[in-house]
Amino acid sequence: MLDAWTGKISNGNKLHDTKPKNALPLVSKERKEQTIVWVKDVAIGGNEAIVIAGPCSVESREQVVSTALSIKQNGAVMLRGGAYKPRTSPYDFQGLGREGLQLLREAGDIADLPVVTEIMSEEDVEIVCDYADMLQIGARNMQNFALLKKLAKTDKPILLKRGASATVKEWLSAAEYILHGGNENVVLCERGIKTFDNSLRNTLDLASVALVKEMTHLPVIVDPSHAIGKRSLISAAAKAAIAVGADGVIVEVHPQPEIALSDSAQQLTFQGFAEMMDNLQSPLRTISRQNELAICF
Ligand code: PEP
Ligand code: MN
Repeated sequence: MLDAWTGKISNGNKLHDTKPKNALPLVSKERKEQTIVWVKDVAIGGNEAIVIAGPCSVESREQVVSTALSIKQNGAVMLRGGAYKPRTSPYDFQGLGREGLQLLREAGDIADLPVVTEIMSEEDVEIVCDYADMLQIGARNMQNFALLKKLAKTDKPILLKRGASATVKEWLSAAEYILHGGNENVVLCERGIKTFDNSLRNTLDLASVALVKEMTHLPVIVDPSHAIGKRSLISAAAKAAIAVGADGVIVEVHPQPEIALSDSAQQLTFQGFAEMMDNLQSPLRTISRQNELAICF
């Protein structure tokens, strides 16, 4: 009998005898109330919502160091930046590779921020693990099962983005792979899905955040930058994400977004990031309950 997980022939136990009744036993809330994922000294999934920020792509030392210092000053707790970029067109900037990883690490060290970066290929696991504190599995690789299995064997925390066309069940099944392979430190990230509406880059599925918080013990964060693709709306969406129960947000920030080599339209300026952080601190708007009170009395 072929074992679905290992691909090896097993001793004749029928597969359905060993298959768990619940399709998502390891990520399920029934197993555990809440996981806190630690990335160095940053807790994701605890009482405080956290903010991760940084450029879409690492482009130069000056760009990533200045961004790291600015976001740190404004309250971010982790630096993001892509060195291996999943670009739709082969003619678009593909990232600086190893040099990008080195610059990201250097900027993180200077600003005293842990760093997260995307890993696209099994071939890059070793090198990315040498430089990064957290490994990002991008939307396009959410169901790259070979990559999921390989990263499950590392001791690094994983940021697992939702595929643009993935259902919640598929997304959680991808997380289940990582836990099943031995790595419990998974943070889920909603980053927008494809729907009929193309007014924005994607559709930010905030209801899925509340749903996943109800279904699993894993921390969940939101990436409004890739969900929305439009600078002016990032702050409002980040606030909504925290209001709906997300454990944090990850946003793109660039010293000069207009000349960014990728995702120019969605990256926040330093000033824009500072304003977003102020907005996240200010109380939510309240709704008037006067009418309701009038009825009661
Ligand atoms: C990114 O975070 O740089 C990225 C490419 O995101 P996603 O995989 O969500 O598109
Ligand atoms: Mn980007």
